[in-house]
Amino acid sequence: ASGYSLLRDPHHNKGLAFTEKERDAHYLRGLLPPTVISQELQVKKMMRSIRQYQVPLQKYMAMMDLQETNERLFYKLLIDNVEELLPVVYTPTVGEACQKYGSIFRRPQGLFISLKEKGKIHEVLRNWPQKNIQVIVVTDGERILGLGDLGCQGMGIPIGKLSLYTALGGVRPSACLPVTIDVGTNNEQLLNDEFYIGLRQRRATGQEYAELMHEFMTAVKQTYGEKVLIQFEDFANHNAFDLLAKYGTTHLVFNDDIQGTASVVLAGLVAALKVVGGTLADHRFLFLGAGEAGTGIAELIALEISKQTNMPLDEARKKIWLVDSKGLIVKSRIDSLQHFKKPWAHDHEPIKKLVDAVNGIKPTVLIGTSGVGRTFTKEVVESMAALNDKPIIFSLSNPTSQSECTAEEAYTWSQGRAIFASGSPFDPVEYEGRLFVPGQANNAYIFPGFGLGLIMSGAIRVHDDMLLAASEALAAQVTPENFDKGLIYPPFKNIRKISAHIAANVAAKAYELGLATRMPQPKDLVKYAESCMYSPGYRSYR
Ligand code: NAP
Ligand code: MN
Repeated sequence: ASGYSLLRDPHHNKGLAFTEKERDAHYLRGLLPPTVISQELQVKKMMRSIRQYQVPLQKYMAMMDLQETNERLFYKLLIDNVEELLPVVYTPTVGEACQKYGSIFRRPQGLFISLKEKGKIHEVLRNWPQKNIQVIVVTDGERILGLGDLGCQGMGIPIGKLSLYTALGGVRPSACLPVTIDVGTNNEQLLNDEFYIGLRQRRATGQEYAELMHEFMTAVKQTYGEKVLIQFEDFANHNAFDLLAKYGTTHLVFNDDIQGTASVVLAGLVAALKVVGGTLADHRFLFLGAGEAGTGIAELIALEISKQTNMPLDEARKKIWLVDSKGLIVKSRIDSLQHFKKPWAHDHEPIKKLVDAVNGIKPTVLIGTSGVGRTFTKEVVESMAALNDKPIIFSLSNPTSQSECTAEEAYTWSQGRAIFASGSPFDPVEYEGRLFVPGQANNAYIFPGFGLGLIMSGAIRVHDDMLLAASEALAAQVTPENFDKGLIYPPFKNIRKISAHIAANVAAKAYELGLATRMPQPKDLVKYAESCMYSPGYRSYR
């Protein structure tokens, strides 16, 4: 290969870090200025340039440019500055990037599979340059974060998630495949936008939708084998639950919105109990929002309670109540409820407003998964604070604009008593001379390590007990010093170590359940996980 093309190959390019010897051996003389610098200095330089941008979207675009010009430097930057850059490459900035994807779109990333490719998906997969794929993140763009239907522009999400798979979980970038399934969009604004990059039609549904998805799922297994992990991301709930149930028995599938969220929130709750006291079974839970996140979390809490206490699952579910857009989910509504809500229809008179539900149910834990901002009003938080010495409040909706309340509101309205975590990041809050650091119940704590655990054990199916194993491993990483600051999640800067522990616990569960295929089982799974992880330092070319 010529030096010129080497510099333009993002997988191999090192820019000014090419050594003198490499410059001689690979026809790079004259194509670079004379200075040779280290990767560390490149990181310093890039961070300075990224910090100069005031607008988050510009930072995002600078990061994407880097990913497309020098992949190892991109990952080095992300890993070394994870707390600063996570909000850039993921929520909240990725949401804005998706909204504007049509106009910032330069070089295509990932694989687009639209209705036009029906009947040819196998060939489309073969157009992708990498053959050894271990993780696919796929979206159909219908429910991007809390932003709704962004159609084909949802591609920002699989790309962002897979960057995190590599940076946080150590999965090789070449083993990651971002996919967007384009069956149209019902977003009128996009349909009328001359820069829209997707199919200009309303969404295909029913059989047409199911057939395209089925062709995709079949082609993926044929092309990459049984052990490729397929992560469903940001599908609308009317498809998400069905896809997970349908392919859960034939493929290695994981839905991060349902299962990943559940696992990260359960970990936060388990950690919070160390501050608040009691066991999960001693608590009462109320959700605003009964979709993928809400019912997913609810189900995993119920499963954990029933494991801890030997209580039947149905009994455990009775400790958990959900409110959807029509009010509290109760028995009298059961006939008109979507199937994933039915297990939560308990005996109670109907209640419309959240604040009345709080006062009626008297929860110790309030969790927002509605996608609607400003719904934990002053009244709601004050009621929680009146009912509980230390109310646990999670405002999980993303991006920041959709958060049910801000960190400042949670602390102020509860007079500093709330144990608070959110989906999108909030800055620390000073209240009456004390500094409160809000936790971020970010799925990025779980899915990269979870995926690594599946991959390294050669797991062929996902089991709910693996989600519990991941929660347990994450909760165990919270230190007494973290608790002192009000944190119920460990700091992100240790995420690679955290991911290795999660991976090890998930893999151990896979072996225990007979779902692992990598034999023999490694003795020290944490060490083994660490040894599997991609590291972004440059390799030398001889
Ligand atoms: P979803 O499946 O569409 O569910 C949304 C739920 O909220 C539905 O049950 C809906 O009610 C309900 N809802 C909507 N407006 C409401 C209102 N005004 N009052 C009460 N309930 C209302 O969406 P999802 O996948 O669960 O995601 C929801 C939000 O959670 C998103 O913002 C997402 O970004 C966030 N999320 C955060 C994390 C995290 O922090 N780690 C993880 C996953 C998701 P109906 O059923 O009646 O329509
Ligand atoms: Mn998601």
